[in-house]
Amino acid sequence: MNYLSYLKTTETCNLNCRHCFTSGTQGRKIFWNTDHVIDFFQRFSEYVGVGNTMHYEFHGGEPFLAPVSDMIRVYDQLRHTFDYTSFGCTSNLTFKLTPDIEDFIQGPLNQRIGTSWDPAIRFANAKQESLWRSNVERLLSLGVTIKLFISVTQDTINIEPIELLRWVRDLGVQELDLERLTNNGNARQHPDIFPRNLDQDQWFLKMHRQIQQHDARSWFANEFMEISMTSLSATSQVQELFAEIANKNCLPSMRMEQ
Ligand code: SF4
Repeated sequence: MNYLSYLKTTETCNLNCRHCFTSGTQGRKIFWNTDHVIDFFQRFSEYVGVGNTMHYEFHGGEPFLAPVSDMIRVYDQLRHTFDYTSFGCTSNLTFKLTPDIEDFIQGPLNQRIGTSWDPAIRFANAKQESLWRSNVERLLSLGVTIKLFISVTQDTINIEPIELLRWVRDLGVQELDLERLTNNGNARQHPDIFPRNLDQDQWFLKMHRQIQQHDARSWFANEFMEISMTSLSATSQVQELFAEIANKNCLPSMRMEQ
């Protein structure tokens, strides 16, 4: 079995994004109990036994509001709990990057980190966005692989898809994922940020066409679009197979739903 566990170091955050499902700065100001976390996962790994993998993802709120020393301790105690164990982190990267944080990203996090950017709903001012950008540039200069998450809000789909992709390419990050909003936390107070499903779908379709038109598939790994394209391709392959079988009268009553 491949397990994935989110380790929430805290419920609170230094930002207050309008779509935050943990309520941003209003999230409960509580931090994890590392003894409990370590004890739970050590017992869990014994319970499930051998032949399993685990990915631990440090999450929040903002995970780096907790002391890095706590994250290192959890890493040290859990790094051998499964046959294959890995660690990741998703951070808003809108704070001063200290040497211990950089070391943690380069060591236990294996030179990888996830971070988010969204138009209009994330940063309270230009200073915050500039701090985030300089931290992204700093980590890229250290050889860190960055996965960028962008939420698909009304403001996002107001951007021409190819312009958004060009912006991501020029930022220099290696991976992109696009995420649909969930109606929790702060997002419940801001219904205006939700795009209509139809508009969202048309925007993705336009992105797909523009990726082909501008040969943008090689710019960076675009996870959402790659999965969509793979699914579409798989769907069409399955349909072709069904059509072939139906043509051979193997399945005379089969009807394919679109
Ligand atoms: S950075 Fe993440 S946790 Fe913090 S307010 Fe924004 S969405 Fe919420």
